[in-house]
Amino acid sequence: MNTAAPRRHFASDNYAGICPEAWAALAEANQGHAPGYGDDAWTQKATDMIRDVFETHCEVYFVFNGTAANSLALSSMCHSYHSILCHENAHIEADECGAPEFFSNGTKVLLMPGANGKVEPASIERMVKKRTDIHYPKPRAVSLTQSTELGTVYTPDELKAIWAKSKSLGLKIHMDGARFANAVASLGVSPKEITWQAGVDVLCFGGTKNGIHVGEAVVFFNSELAKEFDYRCKQGGQLASKMRFISAPWVGMLKDGVWLRYAGHANKMAEYLESKLKPFPQVKFLFPRQANAVFVELPRPIIDGLHGKGWKFYTFIGQGGCRLMCAWDTKPEDVDQFVADLQALMGK
Ligand SMILES: *Cc1c(COP(=O)(O)O)cnc(C)c1O
Repeated sequence: MNTAAPRRHFASDNYAGICPEAWAALAEANQGHAPGYGDDAWTQKATDMIRDVFETHCEVYFVFNGTAANSLALSSMCHSYHSILCHENAHIEADECGAPEFFSNGTKVLLMPGANGKVEPASIERMVKKRTDIHYPKPRAVSLTQSTELGTVYTPDELKAIWAKSKSLGLKIHMDGARFANAVASLGVSPKEITWQAGVDVLCFGGTKNGIHVGEAVVFFNSELAKEFDYRCKQGGQLASKMRFISAPWVGMLKDGVWLRYAGHANKMAEYLESKLKPFPQVKFLFPRQANAVFVELPRPIIDGLHGKGWKFYTFIGQGGCRLMCAWDTKPEDVDQFVADLQALMGK
């Protein structure tokens, strides 16, 4: 076995471990007995803290992962004959194995193009007005990802424009916030400005990629939609028996703004990586870097060379498009080492 400290990669923020604050909260929760299924003090505390973060009353449910959070949240908004409008790169379309359709008993996901991974009001309108007859699945919800799958963020104004359009068309708004923390840190806004003050009905608030071991919070600003959501969670296999080990890390993360500090750090590391890659003429930047990911196009031999040197990163964007993702624990030295290896390969 290799005894050297394992290195950090740029593949995904879920390659990272558990941050010390979440780990400490888990240890603290691991004392004595506490009621199961969420009737414990940690879950109450985490819920209260999430209400403080959003400065409003909201209904909060903790589930194991993002696919469950998105699917169950969307199923609470839609009947089987409805449709959900989202960007063609959306996680709910591309990376959830049809779970949103499955949990909503067949609600169809309809795809829209859009620059830099973002949905635009005009395409929402086009999608809805294209067909209004009974043979077409009735559009019911818009799903937005913040920050997006392409590492960009929606500004409060962009969200408000989407809201105005959605409202006029009778659509509800779901937000996939697997990297919500990175968006808040990037925009420097208060969380309410890009959620309920911009018409978001339900947010899937990501904990895992922010530094928790497992767990996402489904946050309903529209409490009407939360009706009987506890049953959906239970039926979907998402009601944790020892719930305090899902909720306690949230207390550690939300205390003293730890979550935003880590998200801001990940964003900063991506910014640093971008600045170190800028001088290479062979590196083509694909999208504006606004959160914790840098998307670049690299020559195939360079990608192979970096993989050969043991670096892990995804290359799923077309031909030679690479996603370089930073996490709460990415160090400047990691960036320096990666860029040094790239430099060596380029120099050959
Ligand atoms: C990671 C991620 C999720 C959640 O994925 P799970 O593997 O189900 O936890 C959801 N949305 C986006 C945009 C993601 O990147």
